[in-house]
Amino acid sequence: MNNPVHGDLIDGKAISALVLSEVGAAVSALREQGVHPALAVVLVGDDPASHVYVRNKVLRAEETGIRSIEHRLPAETAQSVLLDLIGQLNADPAINGILVQLPLPAHIDETRVLEAINPAKDVDGFHSSNVGGLSQGRAVLTPCTPAGCMRLLEQTCGTLAGKHAVVIGRSNIVGKPMAALLLQADCTVTVVHSRSIDAPALCRQGDIVIAAVGRPRMINASWLKPSAVVIDVGINRIEEDGKSRLVGDVDFASALPLVSAITPVPGGVGPMTIAMLMSNTVRAARQQHISHTQAVSATEQACLTTS
Ligand code: NAD
Repeated sequence: MNNPVHGDLIDGKAISALVLSEVGAAVSALREQGVHPALAVVLVGDDPASHVYVRNKVLRAEETGIRSIEHRLPAETAQSVLLDLIGQLNADPAINGILVQLPLPAHIDETRVLEAINPAKDVDGFHSSNVGGLSQGRAVLTPCTPAGCMRLLEQTCGTLAGKHAVVIGRSNIVGKPMAALLLQADCTVTVVHSRSIDAPALCRQGDIVIAAVGRPRMINASWLKPSAVVIDVGINRIEEDGKSRLVGDVDFASALPLVSAITPVPGGVGPMTIAMLMSNTVRAARQQHISHTQAVSATEQACLTTS
């Protein structure tokens, strides 16, 4: 859909299926070289939503041929025990990706835990080494939700260079990495946040609008330029007409007839996040295999020259 016309839906389910089939093909190619990509998923505590997320991640991994290893720990797990487990997973050459499901229980220092993950296995892209690499424009493991949004945009708009992108929200997991990726793609980027003055006027400048706020239907048609491409990251559960439903940060009904293309909620960004996690896992496995092969060949070379 490289020339969106008014009111196009950006189908995250279809585009994520494409990503997952690419991942499946990459897994098969790696297996032929004797590499079996593996993702360790660590879940601490009983948060019901986290259990659902982990189950979905494990299912997707299995569908694409990625081996998944679950580590479920009780809510009262000591931080030192969790750090020991991460140390073991870092050292295990059979594990290519490590994901610690957030949020962690309050007694555990989230930053300390995320920083303990080997950056080469950090498939969530939250380690400061990967965050720094992203801001320098290096090819690193990138946070999954913004990476998924980029894939949706590339599929929808073709070239992004020169477009004015407005990101609403500046969190570490969505807004900031999203802005960095758009900058890397040569967009002009504006970041709107809770202290911005006249957010609707700033937003109306956007050829591309990424909404990552967490406020149901905050962004209505009056915030949007006709012809904008809108990616709605928000997932908000509301009660309406006696029913519980999921809505985005964008008022979908008012935006759809105005904009050129928009993601629905659900069925837009959500499926992309998991697909990009699988993509990151394969990427990590491939990179670790290359590094290992280079190290072995350097050792062999050194042995030959000294013998
Ligand atoms: P967050 O609460 O960490 O950050 C929200 C950001 O919105 C903040 O930076 C804040 O400055 C900004 N903000 C708050 N009020 C604002 C206002 N009135 N005007 C402008 N900016 C304002 O949230 P997050 O983790 O970035 O998540 C944002 C939304 O995306 C949530 O609904 C979350 O559930 C959803 N989410 C979805 C996925 C997915 O896979 N689809 C992944 C991550 C987050």
